[in-house]
Amino acid sequence: MSEAQFSSGGPTFQSQARIKFYCDEDRCIDCHGCDVACKEAHHLPVGINRRRVITLNDGIQGKEKSLSIACMHCSDAPCAKVCPVDCFYIRADGIVLHDKKTCIGCGYCLYACPFGAPQFPKSDVFGSRGAMDKCTFCAGGPEETHSEEEFKLYGQNRIAEGKVPVCAAMCSTKALLAGSGEEVSAIIRHRAITRGSGTPKIPYTWSKAYGE
Ligand code: SF4
Ligand code: SF4
Repeated sequence: MSEAQFSSGGPTFQSQARIKFYCDEDRCIDCHGCDVACKEAHHLPVGINRRRVITLNDGIQGKEKSLSIACMHCSDAPCAKVCPVDCFYIRADGIVLHDKKTCIGCGYCLYACPFGAPQFPKSDVFGSRGAMDKCTFCAGGPEETHSEEEFKLYGQNRIAEGKVPVCAAMCSTKALLAGSGEEVSAIIRHRAITRGSGTPKIPYTWSKAYGE
């Protein structure tokens, strides 16, 4: 599959490879199109950020890099391992989802997650947590697909419509890619060969997201 097909038409999900996000730091321009699109599409309340853009080495010429981060739908998901009420489930395509009606808001998943993905609304004046919220890869949740309840709890279900997550669809530089691991890695490999800049050092936490 060519990059143009992938980026404009969305992933096909024909292969059974797990889905993945990848943010190409050489293309991210820190415009926040992805996180704004996410908040808007899913009607997220103030204080809930399923996706964030972070900048490393801010202001240092030649070393500044921005990255868009959300739940990475880990191959070996630590959040699912620590949840005391087993509210996580992993779809056949690798999307990691959870059931908000089962979640007790304990926060264990946040401590286990290497990417800081789980978000919590404050449920009352004493600061106790409401049900955890995180990126769904725009795949909704356990409620009936495209039901009012699914939208209210999890936001849009674009995957059921054969679309890419809205963040990747809105990324103007195609820094943020979403699709099967095979498709995403083929694009990144092609870019790396084209740039001829060698293999970047892989940050520690990425082994959790992409496996060994
Ligand atoms: S990024 Fe965090 S919340 Fe998402 S699957 Fe991995 S551990 Fe779970
Ligand atoms: S906050 Fe919810 S999803 Fe996270 S570990 Fe606790 S019960 Fe599970």
